[in-house]
Amino acid sequence: MKSFLVDQDGYYGEFGGAFVPEILHRCVEELRLRYLAVMESAEFRQEYDRLLRDYVGRPSPLYYARRMAEKYGCRLYLKREDLNHTGAHKINNTIGQILIARRMGKRRVIAETGAGQHGVATATVCALMDMECVVYMGRTDVERQHVNVEKMRMLGATVVPVTSGNMTLKDATNEAIRDWCCHPDDTYYIIGSTVGPHPYPDMVARLQSVISEEIKRQLLEHEGRDFPDYLVACVGGGSNAAGTIYHYVDDERVRIVLAEAGGKGVETGMTAATIQLGRMGIIHGAKTYVIQDNDGQIEEPYSISAGLDYPGIGPMHANLAARRRATVLPINDDEALAAAHELTRMEGIIPALESAHALGALKKMTFAPDDVVVLTVSGRGDKDMERYLNSD
Ligand SMILES: *Cc1c(COP(=O)(O)O)cnc(C)c1O
Repeated sequence: MKSFLVDQDGYYGEFGGAFVPEILHRCVEELRLRYLAVMESAEFRQEYDRLLRDYVGRPSPLYYARRMAEKYGCRLYLKREDLNHTGAHKINNTIGQILIARRMGKRRVIAETGAGQHGVATATVCALMDMECVVYMGRTDVERQHVNVEKMRMLGATVVPVTSGNMTLKDATNEAIRDWCCHPDDTYYIIGSTVGPHPYPDMVARLQSVISEEIKRQLLEHEGRDFPDYLVACVGGGSNAAGTIYHYVDDERVRIVLAEAGGKGVETGMTAATIQLGRMGIIHGAKTYVIQDNDGQIEEPYSISAGLDYPGIGPMHANLAARRRATVLPINDDEALAAAHELTRMEGIIPALESAHALGALKKMTFAPDDVVVLTVSGRGDKDMERYLNSD
């Protein structure tokens, strides 16, 4: 059987690759030639593992959610990425990439951010490593996400409001790429999800794979076997899902369920359900499904959760869906909100709105009582309190 991990050429089936402007070819190629050797070196492993343990607070618990398990009629475990430093899984990736940037001799870091979660995670590790940090953010998002902007500035980053296009994530990404083109020698571009040109999707998946590495160990301890029957995670670009499934993706005993943002409904036009609606295209340097109009123009996505509000999907996940290795369910805003309130009242855990989409998938699944289900809670809900207060 062909693996669901990346191939020699940077593809997952027909998805992936590296479609970048000529001027960036050298940057991406430099990274491609270096990343595996760096990540596999004992010296990198040691520093990365130490920071994950002492700074991030890993391993994150695998928590048996007793009341929710009873309700859904299965053995339900929650992988608690919400307990990480800065409140989500994103820090696993930014710590890894900043260590890679340093080993490549880069002095300056740039990033793009939508809601500001990846920007904060990047500004955090730049403070930690004393690196210059510039974060591009659409002006609309700067206004909507004031607290995250202040956090980034307090951490020492320069936040650049982007005023082109719709002034959101897509435009911020274009601006970050433009910056990289101007400073290819000293600048490292930290991408926040399993998107972008090869090797980014594979590199980010490997850095997040600590999640499934821990699940294996923890399940063995709790259940006496190191694999679940189901893995459930939400998908924006796909990084927390990639980390959750990484060590199981070629193991057919494990079923994979991914939740994407249905928004107000897949048929309403206000959605980010890329697997339901996307067609093959190129976005951020990778060939994958993209929500686009008949002229190939990328359409503005919508979701109540900023982290899932992306008009593409990582090439790994597009391939999993195309080959039916994963079941992808669209979860609408109202279903995610209800699931967030349910987890809060049944387990005393307020999840991020993104993670609430994964929880919303439980209602659409049927289980046997002995099924072991692991669901990743990708982040905590502090940032979403205003939304929750208005939805009670
Ligand atoms: C950013 C974010 C996501 C979506 O990103 P992925 O790369 O798909 O994981 C999900 N959950 C939280 C809490 C986030 O901050």
